[in-house]
Amino acid sequence: MFEEIKERYNRILFPGRFQPLHYGHIEVIKWMLNFGDEIIIAIGSAQKSHMVDNPFTAGERMVMIREALKEEGFDLSKFYIVPVPDIEYNSIWISYLESLLPPFDAVCSRNPLVIRLAKEERYDVLVPPFFLRSEYSGKKIRKKMLSGEKWESYVPPSVARIIKQISGIQRLIDSSLSDELE
Ligand code: NAD
Repeated sequence: MFEEIKERYNRILFPGRFQPLHYGHIEVIKWMLNFGDEIIIAIGSAQKSHMVDNPFTAGERMVMIREALKEEGFDLSKFYIVPVPDIEYNSIWISYLESLLPPFDAVCSRNPLVIRLAKEERYDVLVPPFFLRSEYSGKKIRKKMLSGEKWESYVPPSVARIIKQISGIQRLIDSSLSDELE
């Protein structure tokens, strides 16, 4: 895994949905800063919100990420936070990102599709270790939110605060409902 990391990079692209940003993402960002000077956080699926898998809007996710980076003591001048809508065209997704984002010279991800597409375009791919994936997972955190379990400790306090301000848990619950009779 580590043999792919060859040098120090100017700017590393970190794509994710961040639904919501959690401590696993924060650990990846800390890890990435060992290898690159600047980080582009691309908020993928920017067009999606109000869905069980994608409850938060791109704008809400931007605020959560920015506030969490500040709270965790990161130097914000090293970060670009850019919303990116999906396209129905995987084979040109990396070119699409190149056209939207500041230039980048490596991609950081554990997502198999992202890794595949970046490698096909000859980018170096940094694959971070798993940081407590059994707990730090957007899917598991959303499941806890839906079932009324405690979820706050898995995300930075600013993220929990923003989710509460926007009534995010009720939105998630409403997004999971159907008007069909069983
Ligand atoms: P995510 O928020 O689930 O994860 C972001 C990154 O963090 C991933 O690389 C993930 O592996 C890593 N991560 C999460 N928890 C971790 C932990 N505990 N320890 C270590 N690493 C951890 O986001 P995602 O689903 O990977 O986002 C990919 C985005 O790229 C999506 O929005 C997707 O739609 C988009 N995409 C779009 C196209 C297209 O438009 N054609 C193609 C490919 C990908």
